[in-house]
Amino acid sequence: MPLGNGDTAPRIQTGEDYIASLRGRKLRVFLLGELVEEPVDHPMIRPSINAVAETYDLAVREPETATVVSPLTGKPVNRFLHVAQSADDLVAQNTMQRKLGQNTGTCFQRCVGMDAFNALYSVTYEIDEKHGTPYHERLRAFLQTMQEHNYVVGGAMTDVKGDRSKAPHEQEDPDLFVHITRKDDQGIWLKGAKAHQTGCINSHWIIAMPTMRLGPNDEDYAVVAAFPVDAPGITYVYGRQSCDTRSMEGGSIDVGNASYSGQEAMVILDDVFVPWSHVFMNGEYEFASMLVERFTCYHRRSYVCKTGVGDVLIGAAAQVADYNGAERASHVKDKLVQMTHLNETMFAAGVASSYRAKPTKSGCYLNDDMLANVCKHHVTKMPFELGRLAQDLAGGLVSTAPSEKELEHPELAALLEKYLKGRADVPTEARIRILRLIENMTMGRNAVGYLTESLHGAGSPQAQRIQIGRQMELDFKKGLARRLAGIDESGE
Ligand SMILES: Cc1cc2nc3c(=O)[nH]c(=O)nc-3n(C[C@H](O)[C@H](O)[C@H](O)COP(=O)(O)OP(=O)(O)OC[C@H]3O[C@@H](n4cnc5c(N)ncnc54)[C@H](O)[C@@H]3O)c2cc1C
Ligand code: SF4
Repeated sequence: MPLGNGDTAPRIQTGEDYIASLRGRKLRVFLLGELVEEPVDHPMIRPSINAVAETYDLAVREPETATVVSPLTGKPVNRFLHVAQSADDLVAQNTMQRKLGQNTGTCFQRCVGMDAFNALYSVTYEIDEKHGTPYHERLRAFLQTMQEHNYVVGGAMTDVKGDRSKAPHEQEDPDLFVHITRKDDQGIWLKGAKAHQTGCINSHWIIAMPTMRLGPNDEDYAVVAAFPVDAPGITYVYGRQSCDTRSMEGGSIDVGNASYSGQEAMVILDDVFVPWSHVFMNGEYEFASMLVERFTCYHRRSYVCKTGVGDVLIGAAAQVADYNGAERASHVKDKLVQMTHLNETMFAAGVASSYRAKPTKSGCYLNDDMLANVCKHHVTKMPFELGRLAQDLAGGLVSTAPSEKELEHPELAALLEKYLKGRADVPTEARIRILRLIENMTMGRNAVGYLTESLHGAGSPQAQRIQIGRQMELDFKKGLARRLAGIDESGE
């Protein structure tokens, strides 16, 4: 079990080390109505673990992309555990995210923790400045331990929230937002549930944070605390995904992407103990909105991950058009141009947000909020259009192809090879495999990451519109118009 400071577990280097580190934790994980014996060996869970493992293997293969020297340890660490020291650091995060999206075709689950560390770095600094609390030093010590072990840290912000019109203290059931139930000189106890937690079972640690602006009556809900994934009192309820049981059928065609998937689960905390050394906010409710806004500022431009996944989908669409013998048609080329234009538009906004980063009081850099929100708002729409265009180019077989078992059936195999062929020189199986990949990304398991996560992850579309509205400087813009229209000389 990862024990935190003083932890003697060996440092994780490779994807293989990482997978080994997850074994034997005796987590209480429910999936399809059953307690999972060992998540690492579960065929429905394993592809999501493989996606996180790729974040380690990329760091070994391409250290220039996925590692950076930590100012805390003076040694190279995985970029997912690094607090941005410059705009270039933030741009480098985006470059890594695009690459990992390309390599996995799905959500690789490690960015929420990265963005939580970056947001908490400046927020704890500013809480301490006002209240004389010790959160910033504690966070630095915790981060250093995570870097030394190269752990995966999940970021748990979204509460289950109950009645959306009510603040935490107004809910009929006080547990609908995670809160402190008890404190003593050793630490605090947490109760409540976090929903849709990306990669939580594949993490070593979780940082729980408030999900919204809080008021003086919500003091017990104003808590930030880190605990190991196998801490006593936690139950995980695995979120099922469209077509997820295909990975339990054996075979490698029908799953579409046999190697990789994302993961979300509900995390239920039943009086989970956290020692003071891992508490980074305790009642300072007036900093909850700053934390949520800074976290979402980082996280909304992290969604350039979807442009890496989009690269795979564009490739699949071009490939299937090629296999179908249609690649040279002008409308096909035009649709591929349109997909690329949409994909690069999302990337442009995200990476521009990173380039325009400014230092916070703590010294860590924070990217541009307006452009981060513009990036994420594009992401709530454009992948759906990319998916539509990919299905257009794929043809109807993307949703009517027979199963792998028919393709191998002694009576049917030859018939299907003959009748499902596109171009004569391309094996039918290759055509079906690409169609299944498109199905996987637009309707199957990885549509969770490519479409629904694009819509709701890091906040539903309205959350970005609120942030964009707050910063649109209408008075300034009206002044520009008045001056040029000759209404008002100064425009002020
Ligand atoms: C695949 C996936 C992965 C995710 N990963 C993580 C993660 O790792 N960590 C994490 O913390 N969170 C994660 N999230 C959670 C994500 O941030 C939330 O889904 C998002 O904030 C929306 O919250 P919700 O799902 O509860 O939707 P709801 O709050 O139920 O929203 C549904 C709709 O109601 C509207 N609405 C909600 N409240 C109000 C209100 N008060 N007034 C008016 N309209 C309202 C919304 O705008 C939206 O249109 C993930 C989500 C998904 C889908
Ligand atoms: S949705 Fe993207 S940004 Fe969020 S954890 Fe997954 S890969 Fe990272």
